[in-house]
Amino acid sequence: MNNVKIKEESSDLKVSEANDLKATRPQSEFTNDPVSLSSFVSRLSSNFSSEDEKFMRMALRQAQIAFDMKEIPIGCVIVKDGVVIGKGYNQVEQLKDATAHAEIIAIGTAASTLDNWRLDGCTLYVTLEPCPMCAGAILNSRVSRIVYGSPDSRFGGCGTTIDVITGNALKRAVEVTGGILADECLGLLKGFFQQMRLEKGDTGAKPQTP
Ligand SMILES: [Zn+2]
Repeated sequence: MNNVKIKEESSDLKVSEANDLKATRPQSEFTNDPVSLSSFVSRLSSNFSSEDEKFMRMALRQAQIAFDMKEIPIGCVIVKDGVVIGKGYNQVEQLKDATAHAEIIAIGTAASTLDNWRLDGCTLYVTLEPCPMCAGAILNSRVSRIVYGSPDSRFGGCGTTIDVITGNALKRAVEVTGGILADECLGLLKGFFQQMRLEKGDTGAKPQTP
């Protein structure tokens, strides 16, 4: 699978390539044509470790919990020294809290596990590129590495739409790796919105008249 890897300090992406990438980037939300997303993801490629894939699959399981609870399916796990110390899934509807994104919840549980808000040396795996709010929280919590699944062409805060991480004012070095299991992560989101549309169609349908 082709993937994206972007490092804050030493990006291999040249300016001309970055401009080219912008030109080919999908313009709409998760419902975009998968072919467009594939071409976007394949613009950059690198290899991920089997450990990265293992933890992204755990994040996908968290996303599936959100799906089953009729939340937008985004899941996250935080790993330190090969051990999961925090996890979370999107709970915006359940908690009626616009900030209850998977990453925010996972950061909170990781801090509880360590009894320390500083998450130096931790890697955060999330199925969708963090939004600017979560990217800011990641910087504040001192997470060392972000690994995301699908890029978010609507509100990605790690380089796709906005880049909160690269050259951040806090001068925190955070490695960003994107695109791992992107098709599966995006597929879950697409399936969710498809199901929501179907359910909406069912409930909104007028009774048929003879
Ligand atoms: Zn977020």
